[in-house]
Amino acid sequence: MSRDSSLPIFEIQADLESALEAENARIVIEAPTGSGKSTQVPAMLLDAGFEGDIYVLQPRRLAARMLARRVASERGGRCGDEVGYQVRFENVVSRETRIRYVTEGILLRRLLEDPSLDGVGAVIFDEFHERHFFGDVTLARCLGVQKTARPDLKLIAMSATLETGALLEYLGEKTAHLQSKGRTYPVNVEYVPPKERHNDAVWDHVVRAMAGFYKSHGVNGHALVFLPGRHEIRKTVSALKNAKWAKQFEIHELFGEASPKEQDAAVGKSNRPKIVVATNVAETSITIDGVTLVVDSGLERRASFDSRRGISTLTIEKISRASADQRAGRAGRTEAGTCLRLWSERDHESRAEATPAEIQRMDLSEAVLVLKAGGIDDVRGFNWFEAPNPQGLELAISWLQTLGALDRGDESLTPVGRAMSKVPLTPRFARVLLAAAEYGCLDYFSVIAAAAQGRPLFPKQKRRGSDLTLSDFREPEDGSDFQALVRAWQAAASSNFNRDACDRMGLMANAARETGRMADQFSNTVGRLSNRNTQGREPDAAEIAQVLLTGFSDRVAIRNSAGTLACTVVGGRRGQLEKDSVVADSKTGGRLFIAGEMIEVEGRDLTVKLNLATKLEEAWLAALFPDDFVEKTGAVYNETNRRVEAREERRFRDLVLESRPRGEPPPDEAAELL
Ligand code: ADP
Ligand code: MG
Repeated sequence: MSRDSSLPIFEIQADLESALEAENARIVIEAPTGSGKSTQVPAMLLDAGFEGDIYVLQPRRLAARMLARRVASERGGRCGDEVGYQVRFENVVSRETRIRYVTEGILLRRLLEDPSLDGVGAVIFDEFHERHFFGDVTLARCLGVQKTARPDLKLIAMSATLETGALLEYLGEKTAHLQSKGRTYPVNVEYVPPKERHNDAVWDHVVRAMAGFYKSHGVNGHALVFLPGRHEIRKTVSALKNAKWAKQFEIHELFGEASPKEQDAAVGKSNRPKIVVATNVAETSITIDGVTLVVDSGLERRASFDSRRGISTLTIEKISRASADQRAGRAGRTEAGTCLRLWSERDHESRAEATPAEIQRMDLSEAVLVLKAGGIDDVRGFNWFEAPNPQGLELAISWLQTLGALDRGDESLTPVGRAMSKVPLTPRFARVLLAAAEYGCLDYFSVIAAAAQGRPLFPKQKRRGSDLTLSDFREPEDGSDFQALVRAWQAAASSNFNRDACDRMGLMANAARETGRMADQFSNTVGRLSNRNTQGREPDAAEIAQVLLTGFSDRVAIRNSAGTLACTVVGGRRGQLEKDSVVADSKTGGRLFIAGEMIEVEGRDLTVKLNLATKLEEAWLAALFPDDFVEKTGAVYNETNRRVEAREERRFRDLVLESRPRGEPPPDEAAELL
């Protein structure tokens, strides 16, 4: 496949080449989605005889993979040769690779090992308008590198929207600003809010709206449907397959975990009209040609971090007006089109103008650790493009201190912190794997860490009555749900991840294989940092708890009573223990435990769920965190009885483990309280 030399981006090719000649070159490229920025700009650099490798930062893994495949094929090669990609846990690059599409912290970590970015000629920040956290931080670091060690390093930020004022100011007045208008056609926006009498689920609403549109306008071109996630996409696809009017369409799904074949089919050429049902990856990252109808649910799934409560949240949110406009624009790439917004105009007016930058809504601890390891001692005074909220920053610093990565006094990086920064995982899991390596059971915990990152080993819902679930892998003496999880994975591994064998057990073969691959990577990386060379030992429940505790002390929880699933978690938080957990077992369960997963989910209600629990003994808390373990006797005011009592209390931080009355209070203390 050769490149399309009629793409609008070629208008700026000559200007780009001359801008690249400057020392300290900083370039902002602004052109609408579909102009050819992501696929053509890196290739233009290469074709201009540019030396050094080209890194292209992508906010989404799916985009990194698809762009690398596309550009490799346009240049007549295989992905992984001249053009490759690197996302967390997946490297498709070789010694010949010149263009690397990368995500997340990949470049930031490379900066740790190689602060002057030897061999890197240019860094391109794609989709910069989306303001992803690692993009912001990496840009700040690269500016520093350019200023000090590498005036020949070229920095390019690309954006589809016009909000480049603040960026230009940040980059300085010498920045070259290249614009291409691109080509766009008018899009007619219609609001089609749900009708109460239909009581539709979002997928039914999509199908109903499309049927109505095609009935009055006929079919001309492809349709693109935006939904928040994989679940809604699957539901919509099956509803479409049942609709008579949709028989003439090819139907495709596009989301992060769809197979590469399906992803390529979704964006590829097609003679029949097609309907592509996608997440917001199709909003700006991936362009599908020939779309004339966009159907927008107006929703997206947004991962955030609630720094007040210290928990991750994954909720479905209303998209901003700016996102809605981007999505609508997808219908006007090749000719005039229509966008159906499945909400009311009034709802639209009430929406946020733009999505808040990620830096305002994520856990900063990994970035703070990486910055510290990169020699940035003063993270508060760092050259942030947009400073994070101070509360989030303080929380990250104090969490890293709890983990032992930063000194309690001067916040400097400790040896443990330095080792942790070399592990491409959240600080929590990095700490756990380092502890596991000391116990000689790194391989076991690598599986646990990998299972926590990847896709679930079990489907969301049982497909058949005979399917096994996590608790079927439990054994009587278990004290941790992770034991059953590892056994389930081992069962899949011993079948060599055979699809039929896994399916018979109700396990997801591909997810299990991926987990294994990731676990190997973790074992390799962390194994190198440890001085024990055998890591294959299987820990017992007590060891599991003690190793986990190094990284999960903020997830120590206690059931409010022996008979309930309602729990209190350190930090004054509340949650609901998973009912099938070993800890909830009426005979062998317990009250005190560690929640391996704590997440706010949106179902019928918003609840904080505590999953993958591990039983805990107080003595282990006291051994590992002696300073946080408090035993005291004293007077407290009992609200119920309205009197002062002497109580004996044991606490872990603010979590009351036990509190019982103990005779009469000393009179002076009682008087003080009253
Ligand atoms: P931009 O980054 O400016 O949004 P891209 O470089 O992603 O633009 O895309 C330019 C053109 O290349 C698009 O019009 C699209 O049709 C085509 N294209 C990009 N990736 C693929 C792909 N994986 N398969 C088919 N066409 C693609
Ligand atoms: Mg792009």
